[in-house]
Parts: sequence; structure tokens; C-alpha cells
Amino acid sequence: MKILLLGKGGQVGWELQRSLATLGELVALDFDSTDFSADFSRPESLSATVNAIAPQIIVNAAAHTAVDKAESEPDLARSINATAPGVLAREAAAIGAWLLHYSTDYVFDGSGSAPWREDSPTGPLSVYGQTKLEGEQAIRASGCRHLILRTSWVYAARGGNFAKTMLRLAAERDRLSVIDDQIGAPTGAELLADLSAHALRTALQRPEISGTYHAAAAGETSWHGYASHVIDFARHAGQPVKVAADAIAAVPSSAFPTPARRPNNSRLDTSRLRETFGVTLPDWRIGVDRMLTEVLGQ
Ligand code: NDP
Repeated sequence: MKILLLGKGGQVGWELQRSLATLGELVALDFDSTDFSADFSRPESLSATVNAIAPQIIVNAAAHTAVDKAESEPDLARSINATAPGVLAREAAAIGAWLLHYSTDYVFDGSGSAPWREDSPTGPLSVYGQTKLEGEQAIRASGCRHLILRTSWVYAARGGNFAKTMLRLAAERDRLSVIDDQIGAPTGAELLADLSAHALRTALQRPEISGTYHAAAAGETSWHGYASHVIDFARHAGQPVKVAADAIAAVPSSAFPTPARRPNNSRLDTSRLRETFGVTLPDWRIGVDRMLTEVLGQ
């Protein structure tokens, strides 16, 4: 079994290098790889890469994830998030390969409070959300066997993340303000990588399960709830924390204007994934605590 992984240096891509290695021979590429082109800003160059490697599985972890920047560079975001996945899907269909791809809660408009299902109406609020939706549509239209995993609020121990920013601010400041009107589930790159390998193993035996699935940790919180949990953890771990628990103010999104609008309701209904693949998803705090333990060197 040959697996082609694109975007190996990202949060999810990094963890996939470990989880996908159990499935077979892994060829992992990044946009500056030299042997083969894996640069999503040149989508058509990906055809030759797929054909030269001839994988049975393609996993795409590359994306333009800079949500605010995407507002001012929509052509690049579209190339990376929509056109390039479309080329991968076309080539996957031609050689009979599976394509596993990631999408996002940002394809929804964030209205209401009910968790979004896979067939809920989409309505992206940003260029990022719109181009990710177009990527999904191109994959479905190609006719290739695919797994599209829509996820939310991804973090990893490696690189920068929201929790690390909160730890730094909590050590420096007496007071903090954190957004309280966006609700979702922080989801670890490790969990997504393990789910991806498991889903592919299942899909190889049951091709009829090709489709879109919501994949996020269980439970829900706001960015304020997430920050409070992280700071509490640090305090109990004896880390330097200057801000008192009651000095973390809950504020609306309008307190932090950004170029891209974010959905308020990012809840994802994961029942389809849990039932199809027979998995139990851990509460979001479990993965966050594990990441914090690693980050704080506990
Ligand atoms: P990252 O931003 O960590 O990783 C994306 C990867 O794509 C990086 O390695 C990046 O390289 C690479 N990339 C950027 N531009 C190009 C290009 N032109 N050609 C090839 N590769 C490129 O994202 P995540 O791992 O967090 O995201 C994985 C998937 O999950 C994506 O599909 C994303 O849309 C989705 N998702 C992410 C969420 C999140 O909160 N992060 C939430 C919901 C869904 P470099 O770092 O060098 O730019």
C-alpha cells in the first residue's frame, strides 16, 4: 500500500506522518519538497506528482489556513483550498485512489445553536470558508472515492497555538479579555491523525462509506472557556500565572474586529463519524490537557 501525504509540515500533517506509517509505504511531501512538486499555488503541477508516485491513498493536509490573510489574497486561497484539491481528486479518480481531505466548520454561517450535520446548509462567512467549501465540492464532483473530514479549532503541541498564547498572556498580565460568543470544540491534531488512519483502514474494506464526516472532540466551549481551562491547568501545575481567575473577562467577538468574520456556532454533530467508524470521541479537555502536559514539560 502506497500513501501520498501532502502538507506534511502542518499541525495535522506532522501527526499524520506517524499515524499513516502504520498503513504502508508513506511518501510525505511539503510545498518546498524538491523531488516532486507539492506546491498548491501551482495546482496543475500536482498531476505529475500523483502519477509518478501512483499511490493507493492520497491524504491532503495542506491548506491556506491564515483566515484573515485569505480575505486579501482570495486567488491564492482558492488555488490552495479549492483548485489544488480538485486536481488531486481528478487524479485520484483516474487511478482509483482514495482521497482523504480536511474541511472546516467555517463552511457554515454559524447561526443558531444546534450542532451542524453533514447535510446542513452551508453558508461561509469568509474567503477561507468559501474556498474550503469549493474544495469539498470539487472533490465530490470528481467521482473519486473520498473521505472529507470537517473539523474545528485544531491545535497541536508543536508550533504556536491559542493555548500557548493564553499561557504567555496569563503570565504577563493582570487582566485578560477573551471572546465568549463563539462556541466549538478544540480538537487535537493527534486525535485527527489517529481518526484518519482508522477511517482509511475501514474505508479500504468498505468503499461504500465514501463521503463527508464531522470529526471533532466531544463537548463544547467558548474561547473564554478554553482560555480559562488552560490558565487553570497552568496554575495547578505551578506555572507562573499573574491573572486571577475572576480577571478573565468574557467579551463578544465585536471587541476584537478582524478582517474575516468567524461563525458563532461551530458545533459539529459527529454522530455519523462515530456510528460509521465505531469510535468514541474524547471530551475536548482530555486532548488539551495532554497537549498542555507536553508543552509545560510536566
Ligand atoms: P496548518 O496551517 O498547520 O498546515 C497547513 C499546511 O499547508 C502547512 O504545512 C502549510 O505550509 C501548507 N501550505 C501552505 N501553503 C501551501 C502551498 N502553496 N502548497 C503546499 N502546502 C502549503 O493547518 P492544520 O494542520 O491546522 O489544518 C489541516 C486541515 O484542517 C486543513 O485542511 C484546514 O483547513 C483544516 N482545518 C483546520 C482548522 C484549524 O483550526 N487549524 C480548523 C478546521 C479545519 P506552511 O506552514 O509552510 O505555510
